[in-house]
Amino acid sequence: MIERIGSKEEIRAAVAEARKEGRKIGFVPTMGALHEGHLSLVRAATARTDFVVVSIFVNPTQFGPSEDFERYPRDIDADLRLLDSENVDVAFTPTVATMYGTGSQVSIDPGPLAARWEGERRPVHFSGVATVVSKLFNIVNADLAFFGEKDFQQLRIIQRLAADLDFHTVPVGVPIVRDHDGLALSSRNRYLSEADRSAALAVPGALGAARELLASGVGDASALEDAMRETLEASGVEPDYVAVVDASTLEPLVEVTGEARALIAARVGTTRLIDNCALHAQRGSHAG
Ligand code: AMP
Repeated sequence: MIERIGSKEEIRAAVAEARKEGRKIGFVPTMGALHEGHLSLVRAATARTDFVVVSIFVNPTQFGPSEDFERYPRDIDADLRLLDSENVDVAFTPTVATMYGTGSQVSIDPGPLAARWEGERRPVHFSGVATVVSKLFNIVNADLAFFGEKDFQQLRIIQRLAADLDFHTVPVGVPIVRDHDGLALSSRNRYLSEADRSAALAVPGALGAARELLASGVGDASALEDAMRETLEASGVEPDYVAVVDASTLEPLVEVTGEARALIAARVGTTRLIDNCALHAQRGSHAG
């Protein structure tokens, strides 16, 4: 049976005990409302480590004042049942008071990787993410921690954070899990009405359009971005940003040459969706 732990002291003790037994520790941080995307991280963790901790914590410091912290979906009983069926060892479910006490003063500056894209639209977001992930890394002290490529900018920031601040924990990226129709799974998908849900398919559709155009030999980033924007707009989906970026630095590209990534954020009804995909330069591609 999964063990549910709410205190930092107890989680430290449980991990220390497992480590003493020679077990490798895996960690999956989440905000709950778990779906198959989260479970693929859990499965990567159970495949590569021997003692798996999943945290469920809706972190207030990564939500802006006009964002959905209050109405973010929470379903702890269903989450625990799912984690139990995946043979997770411990669910760490701290309260806001446990994590932040009466308020904390120190936070992490996530650096230049956070300057653009999500960071530009959500000014406090990545500092909140980097701070809570640092705290969780210090509390859990896992060997490996698993993060989805769904939040690609977040993954890159956390990899940089772990390297720059010398955390013991090594972050590992896990591919995006999609619904049968291509929509990337997200806890926020449950906000979508039926009509929104079908319009939202334009988001993976736009990524597919960029990949197709690239495969046809068009490597010009603005042509790929135009194709993505057109696909979104044709379904009445309002792009927040579309970008073709270097997969390591997340800086905008003029031409797809090495490993690149297409990024999209778009508003569908009242819900903001993000998605992305890899773009591999074609041999002999040219500006289209
Ligand atoms: P969240 O609960 O939204 O904070 O997400 C927790 C972790 O699950 C993050 O590392 C996300 O990138 C990852 N995740 C969320 N959705 C997906 C998905 N569809 N595929 C893969 N990973 C995901």
